Amino acid sequence: MRGLPLDDEPPRTFTTALARTLGFLVLLAAAGLLLTQSPFSSPPSLAPSPDRTNPRDFQRLPISCPAQFPGLAPELQFDIPAPGDSQRQVYVDRLRGAVRVRTETFDGAPTDGADEWYDKFYKFEAYLKETFPDVFTTLKLEHFATHGLLLTWAGSDASLAPLVLMAHQDTVPVPAETTARWTYPPFDAVLDEDSWVWGRGGGDCKNLLIAHLSAVSALLAAGFEPTRTVHLAFGFDEEGGGVHSARYIAAHLEDVYGIGQDSVFMIVDEGGGLMPDYFGRTWVAPSLGEKGSVNVHVSVNVPGGHSSIPPAHTAIGILSALVTTIEAHPAPVKLSKSNPFAAFAQCLGEYGTIDDELKALLKHERTWPEAAELMAARSPGDAARLSTTQAVDIVGGGVKVNALPEEAHVVVNHRLSVDNSIPGLYQRYMALLTPEAAKFNLSVVGFGESPRAGVERYVQLSSPRGAEASPVTPAEGAAWEVFSRTSTHLWPDAIVAPYLSTGGTDTRSYVNLTRAIFRFQGVRDDERMNIHTVDERVHMNGHLNAIAWVHALVQNADKFRN
Ligand SMILES: [Zn+2]
Repeated sequence: MRGLPLDDEPPRTFTTALARTLGFLVLLAAAGLLLTQSPFSSPPSLAPSPDRTNPRDFQRLPISCPAQFPGLAPELQFDIPAPGDSQRQVYVDRLRGAVRVRTETFDGAPTDGADEWYDKFYKFEAYLKETFPDVFTTLKLEHFATHGLLLTWAGSDASLAPLVLMAHQDTVPVPAETTARWTYPPFDAVLDEDSWVWGRGGGDCKNLLIAHLSAVSALLAAGFEPTRTVHLAFGFDEEGGGVHSARYIAAHLEDVYGIGQDSVFMIVDEGGGLMPDYFGRTWVAPSLGEKGSVNVHVSVNVPGGHSSIPPAHTAIGILSALVTTIEAHPAPVKLSKSNPFAAFAQCLGEYGTIDDELKALLKHERTWPEAAELMAARSPGDAARLSTTQAVDIVGGGVKVNALPEEAHVVVNHRLSVDNSIPGLYQRYMALLTPEAAKFNLSVVGFGESPRAGVERYVQLSSPRGAEASPVTPAEGAAWEVFSRTSTHLWPDAIVAPYLSTGGTDTRSYVNLTRAIFRFQGVRDDERMNIHTVDERVHMNGHLNAIAWVHALVQNADKFRN
């Protein structure tokens, strides 16, 4: 059992974070106070790991790979049970049982959480209570929007900002026509001989939800009593229902803790992020930000008529030209200082085994444009992380073969880069499509506008609700250090590097509570497969590591003082 050494000197990154947050004057005023308080750590080792090749070149850059911290062992260790151990079977059964309770969410689901459509979540809650009686009797349970669950493990020191562990109860559906393509039936939760648990929701997000509960259960069994309050927050329509249950839970936490950048110490929610054997290293890569998302509707409107006397271009033909224009002008890729993925690229340059060409381009900001182009050309995923993407996903128009279509439309899904905004995207559309539409003698009616009376030939642009890119979690400061040291405790050889999520999570509703949002679970990327599709599965080693990580995180966050 190793204790947590206390030290008089706050970590350097912690003061840096404060300086940025509060400003230099405030820092000066607070310095005396800070220096008398003790974060848990011994002075973090800011020394580069031995195989960091050429740190000086990289340190001059405006964005750099964060300092790497040594692991911090919590007082209570979580021993991962070996195959054959009866305790391992307990963990297996908990996860399998959760997959077996179907909690699919569908687009267009009711907006009222009390609607009987959501009654399946009563079953899921009952399953959780029956599986974790210790957790549900010790922690306080509250409901939001009927099925949103908030568990509170009250800490002894109410002045400490809480730790919030999130996951969602719902899953994407299994379309009936795909059921036969599954290796094992999607809700049987079969454990195969290689220790994979197969089924919908095993990887997204029941693995994480059960890991949170199992970690708390193990800590309860070990007699752990938190000083810092821990919340478990489980929404039930992350995958696209109509309630937005996360908002209700977040609003309650705002009432309790107030709105602010530090009202909550740290939030952990779903994400990927443990990448083994990637450019010669293991990476712990929490998503410190997530891209925005917006759908743009482009609708071509022209007079109809009989198809026996057609114009040169019908609405569909004109729409095709507009789509061609949109696709010919994708947003440029960019390594930008505000994108956490740029910091990941720097870590790659410093610690990864990458080719000399890319390494050289990453070293100097003036060659970042070329570096971005090179990365994007090699990997569609990197291209997406370095730009605002566009995907023409839906098309419609025309009803009858002998009638000229009066309207034709497409819907384009954009995932917004952290550098771009929705208004900026709208402006880009206007600039791009106005001259193209003019070639067909059409005007463009912009977002939120209506065509003038009598105008028959126009392109209507519109867009329902969209989401801007999230704020970015700082890769420094207290929560970052706790995150890093917990991770390097479990994976001592890993480099902890910022990352960017191309998808969205429920944390979007929680941004008023803290800047310290980490989208991460302690599962290797190759132990969690086929999320959202046929043969979704998670490996038990991954699930057990996810438990071990949360088990350590709760304790390390508990010991941190600021
Ligand atoms: Zn999910």
